[in-house]
Amino acid sequence: MSIDYRVDRAVAVISFANPPVNGLSHAVRAGISAALDRAQTDPSLRAIVLTGAGGLFSGGADIREFGTPASMADPTLRQLIDLVETSAKPVIAAIAGTCLGGGLELALAAHYRVASADAKLGLPEVKLGLLPGAGGTQRLPRLVGAETAIDMIVSGDPVPATGLANTALLDYVVNGDPLAGALELAASAEVTTRPPPRTRDILLDQPNLAALCDAARARLETARPLLPAPLRAVDAIEAAGKPFDEGLAIERRAFLELMETPESKGLRHAFFAERAAGKVDGITPSAPVRPLDQAAVIGAGTMGAGIAVSLLNAGIPLWLVEADQAALDQGLARIAGSYDGQVKKGKLSVSERDHRLALLRPTLSYDAIGQADVVIEAVFESMEVKRQVFIALDRVMKPGAVLATNTSTLDVNTIAGFTRRPSDVLGLHFFSPANVMRLLEVVRGRATAPDVLATALALGKALRKVAVISGVCDGFIGNRMLEAYTKQAWYLVEEGATPQQIDRAMESFGVAMGPFRVGDLVGQDVSLSIRQRRRAERLGYLCSTLPDKLCQLGRLGQKTGGGWYDYPEGPRRPAPSAVVEQLITSHRAEIGVSPRQIDESEIVDRLVYALVNEGARILEEGIAARASDIDVVYLTGYGFPPARGGPMFHADQVGLDQVLRRVREFARNLHGDPAFWTPGPLLERLAESGGRFSEVSQSPAS
Ligand code: NAD
Repeated sequence: MSIDYRVDRAVAVISFANPPVNGLSHAVRAGISAALDRAQTDPSLRAIVLTGAGGLFSGGADIREFGTPASMADPTLRQLIDLVETSAKPVIAAIAGTCLGGGLELALAAHYRVASADAKLGLPEVKLGLLPGAGGTQRLPRLVGAETAIDMIVSGDPVPATGLANTALLDYVVNGDPLAGALELAASAEVTTRPPPRTRDILLDQPNLAALCDAARARLETARPLLPAPLRAVDAIEAAGKPFDEGLAIERRAFLELMETPESKGLRHAFFAERAAGKVDGITPSAPVRPLDQAAVIGAGTMGAGIAVSLLNAGIPLWLVEADQAALDQGLARIAGSYDGQVKKGKLSVSERDHRLALLRPTLSYDAIGQADVVIEAVFESMEVKRQVFIALDRVMKPGAVLATNTSTLDVNTIAGFTRRPSDVLGLHFFSPANVMRLLEVVRGRATAPDVLATALALGKALRKVAVISGVCDGFIGNRMLEAYTKQAWYLVEEGATPQQIDRAMESFGVAMGPFRVGDLVGQDVSLSIRQRRRAERLGYLCSTLPDKLCQLGRLGQKTGGGWYDYPEGPRRPAPSAVVEQLITSHRAEIGVSPRQIDESEIVDRLVYALVNEGARILEEGIAARASDIDVVYLTGYGFPPARGGPMFHADQVGLDQVLRRVREFARNLHGDPAFWTPGPLLERLAESGGRFSEVSQSPAS
């Protein structure tokens, strides 16, 4: 952290630096405050320019201080903002790069603002279930009007400076360095001939304020799940029509109340869990990583093509290997199709598409790819095919190349054993579509070297993925838990619920899509092949045969025009199916179950606690190093509601004693597979000692 204070043509230039985003830590606030005092007391100065170092203004609060006494220590952000606004000398904010959250709130209190054309300004607090708590809801509407303020604060999305150029928020938008513009403005009559104009003194003269706010609230109230922060933000913006201090007090109250909501706790947990996921025992941010200049992808099917696009988007040149020319052509067409789609939607320019495609080197020869730094294998899910591929890779790849498999279910240790360099092998489990989904499970094998793991994490970052480390087990973290969840969903149908009722219950809980809609989207054949394998491998394997019967009817999901649902109006419009209703009725009769009424809370608890109980085992076995990693997997890969913070955080919030009580209740239901509901020892231990999953930290298994 550093504060630079210099004088330029009778103007104090205060520049603050706190990498990576110039977060407003206590030291930064104190430094700016001292520099402001110094400028006030120097009679030779006529104005003050406040700016961030390193090409950006500020990303807002310093997240490293969240929840610590330093975040609330004097001067608080609100005190600093007050100091700026009440300064006797005009303060000009020179804004480059990002200006977010508390950073923008600080700039709003300056008397003038000059931004570079490529600066981005926003108040993203709703994304953490909060609202801007340092005057943002009061000052922004005074400068941009209530309508734009509602858009910005409710969405939390940043807006380019050019989009705000016509508002009182920005006095000037300049090409290049805003500091020069700010200094020019400081010397102008506009600044020198009048007292500093204060945002707080502006009257929000907007006769339709109440109507605008009512309309915004009405729109928000249709959202599922219904979140409190955007609604409270609109209330606070409406209070900007009142005298400033009254509005500020309303904002403050709402902020403090939101801090205590479960939704904000969940969102904040999700935010920090994501940042913690990349931290691995024994791997520091400066740990050595292997080069990542060239890659190779083996297999250009659904996953291989998506992985290739993801690498190309990151600017990494790659070889794409297929078994034969026809498959290679098909894969190339898939990749080109994905880019053409983006060009059509206006998300990518033609030249950028061509630039990315030029990085692609298709080949049928393994000998061509020996110089790649990292190879990602995405061939058929067959141990024999993987064996042949890894033997070939072992033969051709240069020493030190990272060898990754995208297997979903096969043993990464066995695959590593096909090579003479198991320490270079690991799993990189992408999710479909691989160029879209943010989650990347990094599967650490028994022999995986620490620098290979560090390289995989660096690759995840380069691909803008959220990498979570998993040990080796069947299904890794995500799919292993998903299997438990869907198993109970099928039992619930056998017992009396309908697929629609279950999907509705889970969607009101907040998941992006209920389990039956997901099954139809993914294809029923995927879970069918898992069940077939389980039945072959595990004596006495218990699972409903209802989904098998659905497959026997040829109802594999959206791709065959119907699965659990019919899709008369396209994939987004599932409709209840008379055929499925009939199938369920006859299946219940066949297995001798008389249907019972099942309420929403049983559906939600059974499905969510199925995830939690399996998650507890995964944690205990060290497959995941911490509960928050499991949450990240579910939040980024499986549509778990962010405001619930993930299944493990949700369970901690409910109370593990309560979760255990429900699990034991479910174990008494003879139909729901009592053995399935045997509580994991970790869940039992924590529930009995009043503990939480969040306190557990495991050494990694492989
Ligand atoms: P796919 O059938 O769409 O593609 C596999 C491709 O591999 C085919 O194009 C095939 O021609 C090619 N191939 C087969 N043998 C080869 C060889 N010896 N050399 C080069 N290419 C060869 O399969 P997919 O869905 O892309 O799955 C690939 C892998 O990714 C599997 O291990 C699967 O378990 C895993 N995976 C799939 C998903 C998913 O949602 N589909 C998600 C995560 C992981």
